[in-house]
Amino acid sequence: MSDYIHCPNCDDRLHPFGKVNQAEAAHINEELEVRDGHGWWRCENRTPEGRCLWVQPRWHQAKGFSLPESFR
Ligand SMILES: [Zn+2]
Repeated sequence: MSDYIHCPNCDDRLHPFGKVNQAEAAHINEELEVRDGHGWWRCENRTPEGRCLWVQPRWHQAKGFSLPESFR
């Protein structure tokens, strides 16, 4: 299931976002001390460096952040 959302790490086009996996959700919960990490979405755009690291709640880009490089 993908949805097209603007990503602040990528260019001005909309990019496919998908639900985070378990490891990504666990990292979000730990990093932000929240419990809704499983409901977050990750940008699925591919850059020359690898997968984009941007994650955010579906409707709250201001709350988003970039996962660490280990999630590439
Ligand atoms: Zn992105």
